[in-house]
Amino acid sequence: AVPTAPLRARAEIDLGALRANVRVLRARAEGAHLMAVVKSDAYGHGAVPCARAALEAGATWLGTATPEEALALRAAGLPGRIMCWLWVPGGPWRQAIEADLDVAVSGMWALREVGDAAREAGRPARVQLKADTGLGRNGCQPEDWPELVGAALEAEAAGLIKVTGLWSHFACADEPGHPSIAAQLTRFREMVAYAEERGVEPEVRHIANSPATLTLPETHFDLVRTGIAMYGISPSPELGTPADFGLRPVMTLSASLALVKGVPGGHGVSYGHHYVTSGETTLGLVPLGYADGIPRHASDGGPVLIDGKLRTVAGRVAMDQFVVDLGGDEPRPGTRAVLFGPGDGGEPTAEDWAQVCGTIAYEIVTRIGTRVPRVHV
Ligand code: PLP
Repeated sequence: AVPTAPLRARAEIDLGALRANVRVLRARAEGAHLMAVVKSDAYGHGAVPCARAALEAGATWLGTATPEEALALRAAGLPGRIMCWLWVPGGPWRQAIEADLDVAVSGMWALREVGDAAREAGRPARVQLKADTGLGRNGCQPEDWPELVGAALEAEAAGLIKVTGLWSHFACADEPGHPSIAAQLTRFREMVAYAEERGVEPEVRHIANSPATLTLPETHFDLVRTGIAMYGISPSPELGTPADFGLRPVMTLSASLALVKGVPGGHGVSYGHHYVTSGETTLGLVPLGYADGIPRHASDGGPVLIDGKLRTVAGRVAMDQFVVDLGGDEPRPGTRAVLFGPGDGGEPTAEDWAQVCGTIAYEIVTRIGTRVPRVHV
């Protein structure tokens, strides 16, 4: 058999931290359901174990982008309510109905397709109507809402669907005081009121993501959808650190040093020789590269903790490996290099990597590749 031991590198996933984070978020949104957003393989943390842990800690819903992600959770035995929101024409509506998923509908084509699938399945679909209250992405425009609501009520009367939710998504909830937040909230209230006045009786109304859950209690309604905060990452450095909110980072990414060697001064390091040693030194080889999700933008800057000392990526990140300048130290090959983790052991955090790479921590964790084993502890 091909060995799968996480020797080269591993992403350790602290499910205890994830459970604690879910409890923190539930306390923030008391009285509301918590939907654990586990799309994109739980932001790179492993969808099935994270979904299970979130439910154990009191989440009552699971959320994914694609129907395939939601169906995979159901196939793995995850119980309860699972909602998925990113559909294209011809999607697996019938399987979704038969797997008891809640499906998002943003427009007329989707309502028609889900109705047709429900007729074939011989049972109604659980439909959550999505309003675009100002994000300018998916969701029904306010001017098209009356048509969508009217058609949904007809489909409900025909026994094809049950409207289980009315929902929307924020554009700028991570920017405190951004005027779009209040504007979206007002529009959401109006669109919900319009639907309810015409007879829609949703189980849940929801708009809050992690930043809104953490900082905008007036947005919680019946349910909050939390992704990034559940993984112990702050939605934005502007809002505060994870510790400010009582959250703990869940993923620790590390690798075994593959080689340690001495080199003279003036030695070019890695492709393009962007880094040249300033004097005699030692180099360490970290066996992780951009194919594993280490951004090439981390070249000459990504931070790594080795033997209690912070080092940085020297030269370009290659497909499978990068080099650090160890400044003359000679740790044994096999010594662990920690790229990021909770941060309380002196290691960098995913936010540190995001800052160096000019991106957000969401991108750092979701892009860790499938070649890196996830070890759930
Ligand atoms: N709801 C929807 C529709 C999303 O697409 C996402 C993720 O982007 C979330 C909720 C969770 O967002 P966050 O990770 O900021 O909590």
